Amino acid sequence: MAVNYLYPEYEVARNYDRCINCRVCEKQCSNNVHEYIAELDKMTSDDAKCVNCHRCVTLCLTRALKIVKSGNTYRENANWSAKTMDELYRQAESGGVLLSSMGNSEPYPVYFDKILINASQVTNPSIDPLREPMETRVSLGAKPQIVERDKSGRIKNNLPPQLKLSMPVMFSAMSYGSLSYNAHESLARAAEEMGILYNTGEGGLHEDFYRYGKNTIVQVASGRFGVHPGYLKAGAAIEIKMGQGAKPGIGGHLPGSKIVGDISRTRMIPEGSDAISPAPHHDIYSIEDLRQLVYSLKTATDFKKPVIVKIAAVHNVAAISSGIARSGADIIALDGFRGGTGAAPTRIRDHVGIPIELALASVDKRLRDEGIRDRVSIVAGGSIRSSADIVKAVALGADAVYIGTSALIALGCHLCRTCHMGKCNWGIATQVPELTRRLNPDMGYKRLVNLLTAWDHEIKEMMGGMGINSIEALKGNRLMLRGIGLNIKELEVLGIKHAGE
Ligand code: SF4
Ligand code: SF4
Repeated sequence: MAVNYLYPEYEVARNYDRCINCRVCEKQCSNNVHEYIAELDKMTSDDAKCVNCHRCVTLCLTRALKIVKSGNTYRENANWSAKTMDELYRQAESGGVLLSSMGNSEPYPVYFDKILINASQVTNPSIDPLREPMETRVSLGAKPQIVERDKSGRIKNNLPPQLKLSMPVMFSAMSYGSLSYNAHESLARAAEEMGILYNTGEGGLHEDFYRYGKNTIVQVASGRFGVHPGYLKAGAAIEIKMGQGAKPGIGGHLPGSKIVGDISRTRMIPEGSDAISPAPHHDIYSIEDLRQLVYSLKTATDFKKPVIVKIAAVHNVAAISSGIARSGADIIALDGFRGGTGAAPTRIRDHVGIPIELALASVDKRLRDEGIRDRVSIVAGGSIRSSADIVKAVALGADAVYIGTSALIALGCHLCRTCHMGKCNWGIATQVPELTRRLNPDMGYKRLVNLLTAWDHEIKEMMGGMGINSIEALKGNRLMLRGIGLNIKELEVLGIKHAGE
């Protein structure tokens, strides 16, 4: 008899005094955890299938349900944790690579939580954002190095194409296919209403969303799914995806089971075929090759659109960014190792790459030292969780940030980290029609607009507290930051002083 070594991670705790057998939980759980037993007139649960997505807990009207972490303990110790043993059992069973979703969950330092923001006192008055104008608009793209005048002395307008944002935030690349249609619609509409941009990811652009073009970044990844001249021209900018924080150095894989209907049409691949993006772009092996692709894309769009190059934050990120800045790209997107994803090999997600805070600070410093900082804008992503993270990222050198997981949580994601299973109970990371219907885009987009509106207020309050009335004056302004509990090397890389200094 085959022995199952794995014990369920969660237990469904049902209060039978409150449960009225309405069977809502049974209908709502796509993992078939709950079942009504007619002979007993009682609900039961198969705990082993529960992923703790909280759908049933949230929708149970009598509050009869709780999901609790299993009290069962392996014979673990400081070296062999329960998680390690669990993973070993799984691999011994399956012989396969462990897969996970969302970002790195290992307890590496979160540097944003070890950085504090300044406030003015006495000598440098703070500014009241309710009474004084505060500027959070940003413009992304290469800035001219010198001011040129024509024969009559007028300043020549030689500004390369720019992306204009009402606040320093954009929605990061999340493809149609990994996300549902309704999730994409929510992002596109929120971007339009807020005057920012969302990003197609590598899944192409559904024909319904061409109307949001001026708020869209179209991505070109190694698989080139859904890429054609009309697609390139449809967006306000083009992003070349060289890497992704959640899985640096490897490609992507959307299983054939998700390549159905509109998704196969949008990606321009047959239904049911796996969408596998190779690890490298097969035409890029050097900065010179990258330069060729940047110029091909600019040529295809009449030099009217900025080109973004997105890379994962890795060890020599500053040198790579210096090359990208010289490749003709207008914007560099840096993606830290906590960045989310619909599916990644667990070992890659948890052990490859570096934190965005360190990558961002070192790239900004390198480009300044080389006198080429104005040739590119920097967009930082990889777990931006709040307006405070945005303020800290800008002070470390970012022009703007990408948010992904925060936006999904605003849409209702409960971080159960099982997006790769395609059965997202919140209708976000799934293509199952009865599940996708659970996310109402009218409500979804409103929640995103609310989130960003709240963050914009908070950014202005923090800026006002520092006596700064323009986000441009905060960019790279490390004097506004202090470290807490960081060692000398960490402070040096971040380019900030310790609290109290
Ligand atoms: S998987 Fe989600 S909906 Fe199903 S029992 Fe667990 S918490 Fe409830
Ligand atoms: S998107 Fe859905 S499946 Fe993915 S972590 Fe969030 S709730 Fe879970």
